[in-house]
Amino acid sequence: MGIIGVLEFDQEITVAGRPDRKDFMTMSPSEGKAQQGKPWARYSIPGKQYADNLTKIQVSVRSANEILNGTGINLEAYKAKADRNEKYLIPEMKGKSVYLKSSVKTSQVAVRNIIGIVEGKNPDKYIILGAHYDHIGMGNGYIWNGADDNGSGSTGVLTIARAVMAAGAKPETNIIFAFWTAEEEGLLGSRYFVRNPEFPLAGVKLNMNFDMISRYISDDEPKKVTMTYTSSFPRFREITAGNIGKYGIDLLIDYQPSANPPGGTDHRSFVEAGIPVIRFKPGHREEYHTPEDETGTVDWDIMEKIIKICFADTWDLANEKW
Ligand SMILES: [Zn+2]
Repeated sequence: MGIIGVLEFDQEITVAGRPDRKDFMTMSPSEGKAQQGKPWARYSIPGKQYADNLTKIQVSVRSANEILNGTGINLEAYKAKADRNEKYLIPEMKGKSVYLKSSVKTSQVAVRNIIGIVEGKNPDKYIILGAHYDHIGMGNGYIWNGADDNGSGSTGVLTIARAVMAAGAKPETNIIFAFWTAEEEGLLGSRYFVRNPEFPLAGVKLNMNFDMISRYISDDEPKKVTMTYTSSFPRFREITAGNIGKYGIDLLIDYQPSANPPGGTDHRSFVEAGIPVIRFKPGHREEYHTPEDETGTVDWDIMEKIIKICFADTWDLANEKW
């Protein structure tokens, strides 16, 4: 029934990174008591509360009454009942529309991918191991440290880089070790990489993505890991199964070939660019994207085994005749 009012609100967003990150560099985090045998940590900033991401709109009682006018909904009666903890069934509002006008202030923050390369004998072929190194900053006065998401994956890539260097032999293919930025803001780092390549992407034979590799699917299934991979490369499965047996890595792999490997993380940037991918992932637990995603919840043995199989696969794939 037409416009009955115009509400305006301002919202401030950042493109990547968070300006409030400076704050937690200057505070000293403290770990709390151990809980159920696991270290318990809640890092808080005294006196500082951060709003939820939810957009809220406040209107005056006068505006609310204007909106409700003619609907039979009585704000005073509702408030009186709410004060007495009584239920109030709100009838459906019909023939009303509200026009909201919002403005968004955008601020740009400089962020970086961090890339290392071990040169292979063939300068034109690459395999890329990648993990995002960002997380989601702070919320409600807590630092969200992201041990599993994605301390675990970035540790995996770094560990394999060290192992490849320690091996001392030159692989056939260049191996890129990538730490992507701003995955949590929408795969910004990895997407930038594939859209602005420093070398022809046709030479990239594989992206192996590491994101959240340190939690069991359930405590009863400590060996189970999903391997999602591009189905047109059955060789990925063959190599993995071979290495599991050859090195006695005690994992139960659930092979998930797909023409369009799913998941909301950085390998999607490569899938979109038509590059084959592999991703190992154990569980997705309740601490995901909460301040409880802490090192105390990490299942170290599954993480270690995943890093081992990925190292063995990386070495074979870097010496594969592509
Ligand atoms: Zn993640």
